[in-house]
Amino acid sequence: MNRCFPILMPALGAWLVMLIMGGFVPCPASAAVIESRYAQITYSDLKDLRKFNDELYMGKLRSQIRQRGSDTVEDEVAAKIDFIVEKVMAVLDMFPANLKFSIVIHGDESQVQKDFKRIYHIDVDYIAFYSPSENKVFYSADNANLRVVAHEIGHVVAENYFTVSPPQRIHELMAQFAEQHVTD
Ligand SMILES: [Zn+2]
Repeated sequence: MNRCFPILMPALGAWLVMLIMGGFVPCPASAAVIESRYAQITYSDLKDLRKFNDELYMGKLRSQIRQRGSDTVEDEVAAKIDFIVEKVMAVLDMFPANLKFSIVIHGDESQVQKDFKRIYHIDVDYIAFYSPSENKVFYSADNANLRVVAHEIGHVVAENYFTVSPPQRIHELMAQFAEQHVTD
């Protein structure tokens, strides 16, 4: 499994060329991508993923989560995300066909804010956000509580359900509804 950034390393061929030419591999030791049923989850440091997993405390929902195979931190995060996606779809009563989106897990909110600035060219103090144009959620590992995670996934589900994006205020109401009811 290719655990390096897929964007930087699109093909094994390119990887081999770099290796043969003695170029360095632009892949921090633990950077990786996890494929869950609904999301492609990217992180650049395993310690960020661990932190994200620790912060994402599921409380009473824990016993309902089906985990695949082993119980690595990668599997645990994938299982939690898929569970939250399904819970949010049920809460909103919106089931987009073949839902697939991306998640980026950053170590802290400054990197989240940097990505927001890159996409929207403005400064914000957000701890997480969803970009409809990239169909991608940006989280910071130290602010990854269940409500924050569910809120952004509320945006994902709403955006992917409608053919025409709902107005921003309605989008926000749906995300807030998902956040409030994820633990029901
Ligand atoms: Zn929102």
